[in-house]
Amino acid sequence: MNTRELTVVTGAGGFIGGHLVAALRARGDARIRAIDVKPFERWFQLFGDVDNRQLDLRDKAACDAAVKDAGVVYNFASDMGGMGFIERNKAACMLSVLINTQLLMAARAQGCQRFFFASSACVYAAERQVSPAVTALKESDAYPAMPEDGYGWEKLFSERMCRHFTEDYGLVTRIARYHNVYGPHGTWNGGREKAPAAICRKVIEAKRSARHEIEIWGDGEQTRSFMFIDDCLRGTSLIMDSAYPEPVNLGSDRLVTVNQLVDIVERIAGIRLHRRYDLTAPQGVRGRNSDNTKIREVLGWAPSIPLEVGLERTYRWIYDQMPAEMAA
Ligand code: NAD
Repeated sequence: MNTRELTVVTGAGGFIGGHLVAALRARGDARIRAIDVKPFERWFQLFGDVDNRQLDLRDKAACDAAVKDAGVVYNFASDMGGMGFIERNKAACMLSVLINTQLLMAARAQGCQRFFFASSACVYAAERQVSPAVTALKESDAYPAMPEDGYGWEKLFSERMCRHFTEDYGLVTRIARYHNVYGPHGTWNGGREKAPAAICRKVIEAKRSARHEIEIWGDGEQTRSFMFIDDCLRGTSLIMDSAYPEPVNLGSDRLVTVNQLVDIVERIAGIRLHRRYDLTAPQGVRGRNSDNTKIREVLGWAPSIPLEVGLERTYRWIYDQMPAEMAA
């Protein structure tokens, strides 16, 4: 990739977008524009040598301004969160379709070279994910379509928008279907956090207080796979630079239960907690794993950073973020 052309990263105040800006700077990209709707003081990572802009990309004029003169666009902007957020905010999730639609139109009008869209494992049909002993999801399983309500439909629709902009207008698009990305510099409280960050936070709270107890959403036997941010960045860049035009799974294929996730975090913290299960809390699908056959075939690579290693770094970062009084 040409490091002199202007690269636009949307959702750059968020978790993955912020890390991508950091990675682009580290590899020597000289011209980066970072966009997010959040005020700058709430961005997870903010770099003084980048063209940072606060814009609401649901607005077409904002999208035009965002991609002006850009060669490459990475679109991470989305109104999203963990299960607690997406199960209760379906309309808000679907409205993110405005962001992707307006950005694609602006990128086409601008003559951008490449457009990346961050899709999700939530595009897969719920009926394939009813057992914790899952068959890993392969890319073709997204059809016939019955994705996660709200958020998943938005992602699947936006994937198809990308596809048709390629077919009809020649805009080169690349799509990754992320499976549960975690790491430092992400949401760890406030209602949008996902399971790894939420569990780290709860274990830290319990460790710092006298209440050695943890609340777990569901019975803890639901299964998932979790990908550390460094694998996500490597895979995103490989997919973007590849010649493969279809959506590709980008996730770990190591299946763990939520209880096993808690076991790992407890070991990192050096503590054992009494587990209280909230069977009424949002839980999402019963089981989900990534089939990595396609990514290995296309890229000769797949995520491999061990969960224990990634969680240790995530735990330490959240530990440092948490003011002592939160855990009192
Ligand atoms: P994030 O919430 O940390 O970042 C998304 C950012 O988009 C936020 O900073 C938010 O302020 C910004 N945004 C929302 N609405 C906007 C608007 N109208 N205009 C401009 N910016 C806006 O989420 P993330 O974890 O970094 O996810 C990035 C992308 O990857 C999203 O599209 C998400 O759906 C996708 N994804 C993430 C995961 C994961 O596990 N983190 C899994 C699957 C897919």
